[in-house]
Amino acid sequence: MTDSTPVRTTTPRQVRPATEGWSQQKDATGRPLLQFASPKRGKPPVHLADLTAEQRAEKLFELGFPKFRAAQLEKHYFTHYTSDPELMTDLPAAGREELVAGMLPTLLTEVRRLQTDRGDTVKFLWKLHDGALVESVLMRYPGRITLCVSSQAGCGMNCPFCATGQAGLTRNMSAAEIIEQVVRANRLIREGGLGPAEHADERVTNIVFMGMGEPLANYARVMHAVRVMVDKKHGLGMSARGITVSTVGLVPAIRKLSNEEIPVTFALSLHAPDDLLRDELIPVNSKWKVDEALDAAREYFEKTGRRVSIEYALIKDMNDHAWRADLLAEKLNSRGRGWVHVNPIPLNPTPGSIWTSSEKSVQNEFVRRLNDAGIPTTLRDTRGKEIDGACGQLVASTEDEAAAAATPV
Ligand code: SF4
Repeated sequence: MTDSTPVRTTTPRQVRPATEGWSQQKDATGRPLLQFASPKRGKPPVHLADLTAEQRAEKLFELGFPKFRAAQLEKHYFTHYTSDPELMTDLPAAGREELVAGMLPTLLTEVRRLQTDRGDTVKFLWKLHDGALVESVLMRYPGRITLCVSSQAGCGMNCPFCATGQAGLTRNMSAAEIIEQVVRANRLIREGGLGPAEHADERVTNIVFMGMGEPLANYARVMHAVRVMVDKKHGLGMSARGITVSTVGLVPAIRKLSNEEIPVTFALSLHAPDDLLRDELIPVNSKWKVDEALDAAREYFEKTGRRVSIEYALIKDMNDHAWRADLLAEKLNSRGRGWVHVNPIPLNPTPGSIWTSSEKSVQNEFVRRLNDAGIPTTLRDTRGKEIDGACGQLVASTEDEAAAAATPV
């Protein structure tokens, strides 16, 4: 070696989580525990939002009402955000209760509502018809209002850092149960429950499928809900671009989504750029590896022209290393330029768990490296931290309370 030869310092790479005290749950055959099929439970009542326009007319006919009532009910539900027959004075009083009960049955009962001090974030805890609990979080930002919706009660993907994943999958939500979260949020906004309005007619502008559940594991119902969200004539008339469908990497379903011809924003929750770690953090990685998930994400961009988001929860000493930022940049750049945006988000810690968010300086370094490599990267805020903002936390704390209340002293 000459004096001019650069000296390479070899810092050992930490590839597996260093923190002790956790292990991945396995099934009887020793494979990571994953639950794709929804357990059989009583189905929620069929609601107008579960049906296509033609099916709504047919159902009205079956119930003994004229088909044109569908348009009136759609207007009440999707424009006035009401399911209250008292407020539907354009419908004949005789039979109104039966009509509304048959077409707009109650789907969600509010169990709890938490709001931040500033009033710009509201978290709802809902009980479904069979007692299952789900959450949604409503957030006001300058110029937009975002609702984070749940698509399943619980989740079968078993990610160890996630409160929802620890409880397993209770069941898939129906399309109408997904839509009802939006309608109820819109009702709250209209009633002034999300602080002073920026303009009249304010409503949810953006939807993120990042509440409880893996949306692509409940594909058909999630896609029906998305169609109702964007339907201008028979639905909520939202912009598809404001709707973000996320997944931990169900590759065949990502390919299917690419062919739907609904230009939603697609987000891949990656959380690690290397299989060694991702196998541990995201058990579904045992089926579809990092490169397969990234290839499918790139295909989504090619087919739709929509830039893909990569979600990356920054978890202290687990996945927040500088070399991982470099590896992520390398993998994204190797698939082309201008197709992807990275959103690192400091993990909302689950109370009492070893999973906690990265140090501020580490977060900044992670972001800097990606940006320097030419990958547009924006650190996202953790809205709702003070109100159990991470998915599944409100359900977990409510179930703990219920268990404590039920425990004889
Ligand atoms: S992080 Fe998402 S996919 Fe993983 S267990 Fe939680 S809700 Fe399910």
